[in-house]
This record gives sequence, structure tokens and C-alpha cells, in this order.
Amino acid sequence: EAKDSGRGTCRVFDREMAERLQARRGLAADLRGALQRGELVLCYQPILHAAGGVAGFEALLRWHHPHRGLVMPAEFIPVAEEIGAIAAIDAWVLRTACADAAGWPSPLRVAVNLSPARLEGRDLTCTVAEALAATGLAASRLELEITEAVVLRDNQRIMALLRELRGMGLRVALDDFGTGYSSLAYLRRFPLDKLKIDRGFVQDLGHSPTAAPILRAIIELAHTLGLVTTAEGVETAAQLGLLREMGVAEVQGYLFSQPCPAAEVPALLEALARPVKLRA
Ligand code: C2E
Ligand code: MG
Ligand code: MG
Ligand code: MG
Repeated sequence: EAKDSGRGTCRVFDREMAERLQARRGLAADLRGALQRGELVLCYQPILHAAGGVAGFEALLRWHHPHRGLVMPAEFIPVAEEIGAIAAIDAWVLRTACADAAGWPSPLRVAVNLSPARLEGRDLTCTVAEALAATGLAASRLELEITEAVVLRDNQRIMALLRELRGMGLRVALDDFGTGYSSLAYLRRFPLDKLKIDRGFVQDLGHSPTAAPILRAIIELAHTLGLVTTAEGVETAAQLGLLREMGVAEVQGYLFSQPCPAAEVPALLEALARPVKLRA
């Protein structure tokens, strides 16, 4: 499209890029103090056993910006990585998520997303150990979600780190599976407990004839490798029905709940404990 419309389009594109860069600089400046000012908050989205019952919650970060309003992680996590603020943010997220989860009925778990950059750092095991010790949360109730980008680095040190973390008793999940360039070889080599299948696959169900067989193959492969499977982005009862029939272990998505503030977790647990009446 840009090619056809010539130089004018290029200039607009340049301006848009300049504006985006400007916005990003603004975000970066604001982000530096956001943690101290208490502008970052965690929301929780339930993860359910496919057969029913809540398995735990995923912690999802939100930034309540004083002027811009709600800023989503896709927008500010990359900025935090760029300005070197991600380690402090991830440490806060870990600590806060563990503290919140310690107040939930056991054995409900909490899943925390880790930035790929974070795994390169030296002190992750210390940060995790400190969060667990400070909050009294059992390691078995903490799950760390890493992305394919990490696995792709195929780094011996990261593998050792993951082994160490699992040795502490917590679980490691591979997030957004299928969006990157994951090779089956990585799956076999990496010390993982769980595969979170990207919502793109789930949302293709009913739209693309290859979606179901691909999902089925991923689930079977994961189970063969001894991995628990979670399907992300489940929005309809029809998707849930198909996923159950395919043998997926856990499900997560708007069908059950949007991510909600920590204070709403008890009410959510109560609502989800009632026999699920599914809206089709
Ligand atoms: P993710 O870990 O894959 O999280 C799932 C995302 O899908 C969340 O977006 C969630 O709100 C959204 N989602 C859940 N169910 C549905 C559904 O049924 N339909 C649709 N369309 N979307 C659904 P969110 O909260 O915007 O987070 C985006 C990404 O930002 C996360 O993807 C994760 O990679 C990253 N992130 C979130 N919180 C943190 C954090 O504390 N630390 C780090 N490093 N990354 C985070
Ligand atoms: Mg995640
Ligand atoms: Mg995900
Ligand atoms: Mg995602």
C-alpha cells in the first residue's frame, strides 16, 4: 500500500514514527517514578481446570497513568525493558503477586510473567526466594511464565536457571506457545512444566479448518512430553467444548472472567465455584 502511493505516504509514515518515538520518550520519563508513586497495579485472571474448578490466577500488570489513564503492558513493558526498569518492576510484581496469593485458599496458584530480559539477570533466584520467604507462599503455588523468545536463545545458563527454579519447587510455563519460532526440539530440551497455547489457535477454531487438527496435535505432543496444557483466550462455550474434547488440561479467557483487581478475587472465586452455566 505504502509502495503504491509514493512519497507523500512515506512522509506521513515518518511523521507517525516520529510521533510514536516522542510518545515513547514521554512514557519512559513517566515510567521511571511510576512504581514509587503506586501507579502500577496487578489484575488477576482465573485459570480453570478444563473439568471445572479454579486452578489459580495469572497476574497481569496495569499502569494507571495520571494523565493517559490505563496503559496496557504491551505498550509499557518494552519501554521498561529499554530504560532498564524491568528488573525493579518484575521484582515488585513477584512480591505483590506472592503476597496476594498467600491470602487465597490453598492450593490456588499464582502465575507471574517474566520479561525475557529478566532471565539474563543474575539474581532472579534470589528475588524469587525473597518473595516466597517474605510472603510465606509455598513455592508449589508459584508459577513463572516465560516466552518463546527465551527458549529460542537456547542458552545453557538459562536452562540451568530454570532447573534451579524448578528445584525450588515452583513451576515454569512456556507462554504464548506457537506465536514465535518454537521448534519441537526446544520443547524436549527445556526444563518446563506447562505449555500455554496462544489464543490465536483457540480463536481460529470454527474459522479455519486446520485449527482443530493443529490444536489437537499440540495438546497431544505436550502431553507426550509430560507437559500440562493451558489454552489461552477461551471466549466461547463452543471453544471450551472443543478444547475439553481435545483433552486440554486448563483453560483461561474472557468466557470465565476478564482480569480483575485483587480485591475482587474472593467474589470471583465464589461465582466460579457455582456450577458453570455457559452462555453459548
Ligand atoms: P500474556 O501473559 O499472554 O497474558 C494474556 C493476555 O491475554 C492478557 O493481556 C489478557 O488480558 C489477555 N486475555 C486473556 N483472556 C483473553 C481472551 O479471552 N481474549 C482476548 N482477546 N485476550 C485475553 P494483557 O493483560 O494486556 O497482557 C499482555 C502481555 O503483557 C501478557 O501476555 C504478558 O506477556 C505481558 N505482561 C503482563 N503482565 C506482565 C508482568 O507483570 N510482567 C511482564 N514482564 N510482562 C507482563
Ligand atoms: Mg502470561
Ligand atoms: Mg500468554
Ligand atoms: Mg500473550
